[in-house]
Amino acid sequence: MKIAVVAFFVIAQCGAFAPAHYSRTVTSSTLLGAKEKGGTSKELDLPCADECAISKYPNLPESIHPGVLSGQAQMDLLNHAKEHGYAIPAVNCVSNSGINACLEAARKNDAPIIIQFSSGGSQFYGGKGLDNSNYRAAIAGAVSGAFHVRTMAEQYGVPVILHTDHCAKKLLPWIDGLLSASERYYEQHGEPLFSSHMIDLSEEPIEENIEICKEYLTRMDKIGILLEMELGITGGEEDGVDNSDRPIEDLYSKPEEIYQVYEELMKISDKFTVAAAFGNVHGVYSPGNVKLEPKILSRAQDYISEKLGDKAPADKKPVAFVFHGGSGSDVADIQEAIGYGVIKMNIDTDTQWSYWEGIKNFETKYHDYLQTQIGNPDGPDKPNKKYYDPRESMRAAEVNTVARLGKSYADLKCQNILGLGEVEPADNVLGPRRGGLPV
Ligand SMILES: [Zn+2]
Repeated sequence: MKIAVVAFFVIAQCGAFAPAHYSRTVTSSTLLGAKEKGGTSKELDLPCADECAISKYPNLPESIHPGVLSGQAQMDLLNHAKEHGYAIPAVNCVSNSGINACLEAARKNDAPIIIQFSSGGSQFYGGKGLDNSNYRAAIAGAVSGAFHVRTMAEQYGVPVILHTDHCAKKLLPWIDGLLSASERYYEQHGEPLFSSHMIDLSEEPIEENIEICKEYLTRMDKIGILLEMELGITGGEEDGVDNSDRPIEDLYSKPEEIYQVYEELMKISDKFTVAAAFGNVHGVYSPGNVKLEPKILSRAQDYISEKLGDKAPADKKPVAFVFHGGSGSDVADIQEAIGYGVIKMNIDTDTQWSYWEGIKNFETKYHDYLQTQIGNPDGPDKPNKKYYDPRESMRAAEVNTVARLGKSYADLKCQNILGLGEVEPADNVLGPRRGGLPV
């Protein structure tokens, strides 16, 4: 029944946009009504039968399409999340296997996803054997990951926000490199390579934090990239940054500070989100050290709405918040935070564990088949190739991660958002558009 709905949707879209005999002089972009940006099918001189079937989702604003979102489409998705009371999982990925698991989970949950790379994750994506002077490997690795996401997201038929995680002051050359890549991509395709970047200057004085964020937001806004800024400190340790000894008052943002950020950044653009601190901690620790206080977000929304007066939005939630360090949090706290305008929640520790646990369980199950190339409990001459083939253990890791992300999607109330229904397997339902490949 659900499949039938999808089929009808695709046919309806074909009827509206795609003639039976596709003219090679018309690009998929013009069929989509998008900006003139060329297209893989045109470049390769291929017909565009399936590309033209892709367009919109039944339950989402028209701008939101399968593949990587930026500009207004990204804003429309984030506003939809705030309006409808869900947050989008933002998962740190370090390999194409991890990315594929995210895309599979998104399709399975009929929902959007945010895929993000840390600087260390970007470097790993490019290969740890490569020299990373001036963050060259991290820049190239993130670009490589971005092309993988762009190519595959459309195959899975899900909308994706392609993001980079914490960027401290010393890492700014990494973001500079990625912005240059996005600017070049924009010249060719009319959209940036990445959807958004986080700049985390929470270690610096707030004035400097805001000033540098304004400079970057100015550059990003020109090509439709969104800025995520951090205010206050996320406790704990992640990707080599250790904040576990910070004084406890640094772990809670003040409404006045959030207003200061809001007021200053709004002078440049509304394309920003705030990772405010409300007692969140990276990593999973035994409970009791730091208390999560989602009400800090609520108080900030009230404070800013009051300051804005008539100009405050109707929902009285002017700020889009990002939730870092949510691993191990109570679902009640997570959902309370969503009610106060959290539209993105980062997931790293929990999917690191799920990926590893998949491999661990695979090894436990097939231990006796994984000790030598030949010889197992079935006989001394039996080959073990089908067990130690890396695809087997990696797939076990992916399956376990897709399952774990199902829990995140449920916790974040981010299921059945697209309106396509469930599919099993999560294969290509909408057809390729242009794969976001370079011209
Ligand atoms: Zn974080």
